[in-house]
Amino acid sequence: MPSDIEYLYQSILMEHMKNPRNQGLVHDPSYQSLHVNNPSCGDEITLEVLVEDGMIKDIKQEGHGCTISMASASIITETLVERSVEEGLAIIKDFYEVVKGQDPDDDKLGDAVAMKGVSKFPMRIKCATLSWKACERILKGLQNVEV
Ligand code: ZN
Repeated sequence: MPSDIEYLYQSILMEHMKNPRNQGLVHDPSYQSLHVNNPSCGDEITLEVLVEDGMIKDIKQEGHGCTISMASASIITETLVERSVEEGLAIIKDFYEVVKGQDPDDDKLGDAVAMKGVSKFPMRIKCATLSWKACERILKGLQNVEV
């Protein structure tokens, strides 16, 4: 029997699967884009991130793959928008701990806490972190440019 919290997490993921947020690319040159894939599962995601004045203003995602990778790509677009780049990178770091089974101590994670259940399936952690790794690489690239 799944616990109440597991049931809640599952329903959050299903909701993102049914209504993916910010799906569809804009192909706007002011966005930084990155395509990533996870060969062990076949997930492919393209992420577009718009950063203005050190703030993450918009994230778009498109791809195909398993439920976990697709739900996670939807969740990241909601979780990181209107955060500073620095804040975004800190949230991404916390997310990597959550998928390893750590309790989130970051209330900014939002729906991303629902990914905690992935920790029970180590093969699927890459599915959950794929879009977050893409975003991290984009944000770090931008930071390097600024330094
Ligand atoms: Zn997957």
